[in-house]
Amino acid sequence: MEKYTCNFIKIDVTNSCNLSCPLCPNSYRRKDIKIPYKNMSLSEFIKFFDNLQIYPQEIGLGVNHEPLLNNNIFDIIKFINNRNKKINITLSTNFTLSNKFKIETIVESGIRDIFIGLDGIDQESYSKYRVGGNFDSVIDSIKKIQEYKKQKKLEFPQIKIIFIVFKHNEDLIDKAKELFNSLEISVFFRRTDFYSGFEDWFPIKFKQINFNEDRTPMQDNKIDAICMEPFSSVTIDSFGNVYPCCGDGAFDFVVGNIFKDSFENIWVNKKMCDIRHFLQKRCNIKDIPCINCPIYKQDNSNIAIKL
Ligand code: SF4
Repeated sequence: MEKYTCNFIKIDVTNSCNLSCPLCPNSYRRKDIKIPYKNMSLSEFIKFFDNLQIYPQEIGLGVNHEPLLNNNIFDIIKFINNRNKKINITLSTNFTLSNKFKIETIVESGIRDIFIGLDGIDQESYSKYRVGGNFDSVIDSIKKIQEYKKQKKLEFPQIKIIFIVFKHNEDLIDKAKELFNSLEISVFFRRTDFYSGFEDWFPIKFKQINFNEDRTPMQDNKIDAICMEPFSSVTIDSFGNVYPCCGDGAFDFVVGNIFKDSFENIWVNKKMCDIRHFLQKRCNIKDIPCINCPIYKQDNSNIAIKL
C-alpha cells in the first residue's frame, strides 16, 4: 500500500479563461479542441468534499483556467471554510473579473491567499502578455480589498502577485516592487521558460533562484531532484477528472474521476502508483506524461524539490 498522503488538492472549477495569454497552454495548445464549457456546481463540489475520508491541508482553486468565471466560486470557498477551518484555501486568478463580486463576499468567504497573475506596472506593460485584461480594474479591486481588511482589522486574505518576467518587463522589476510595496502586498518574480518555441519572450537578464526544501537558495541553482507532484497532490478539472499534476504534459493522462470513484481509491490506483514508480526510477513505462514534461527534464523547474 502506498504511504503517501495527499496534502494539496488543486481544482479547476471551470474549463475556460477570459484572457488569451500567449504562452498559456489553453491559449495556444487547446484552442482547436472543442470541449463543452463546464463549471463545477456547488452541489458537485459538496458531493466530492463530503466523500473525502481525509481532508488535505490545502485546496487550491484555479489551476489552468480562470476560477472567477464560475459564479459559485465564493460559495464553494465559504462551504469549505464552514466545514473545516483548518484547510488552507487558496485562489489563483488573473482577478480581472473580481468586480463581478462584492468585496465583502470575497474577503468574508474564508479565502486565505489570493495569487494574482499580474506582470506589469501599467496597462501597456501588463497587456502585452495578459491579452484582454484591464490593469486598472485589477489594481482597483486590490485596493478595495486592502481597505476593507484595514477597516475590519483582518489579516486575510493575503494578496500575492505572481509577476512572470519576460523580455518586455524585466526592466520594470524595481518599479513593480515599489508599486506592490505601496499596496502592502507581496510579489514573486518567476521565469516561465517551460515551453520551447517562445524564446522571443524569455528574459535576458533575470535569473530565477531555485530553493532547497528548507527554502535556502540552491548553491549552484542546479536541481538534483525528482518531481514530487504526484506524491503529495493531484489536479482535478471541472468535469471531475483527476490528473497526477497540473503540468501541461499531463493534460491527457486522466487517473480517475471523482464523480465515478472515491478519491481515496484514485489516490492509490495503478496509474498513480505507476507514475510515482516511474519518477522514482523503479520502472520504465512508455505511456507516462513526464517523458515530455520540462519539469521531468529539469530544464527550468522551481517546482521540483529535493527528495
Ligand atoms: S514530471 Fe511533469 S508530468 Fe510528471 S508528474 Fe511531474 S509535473 Fe507532472
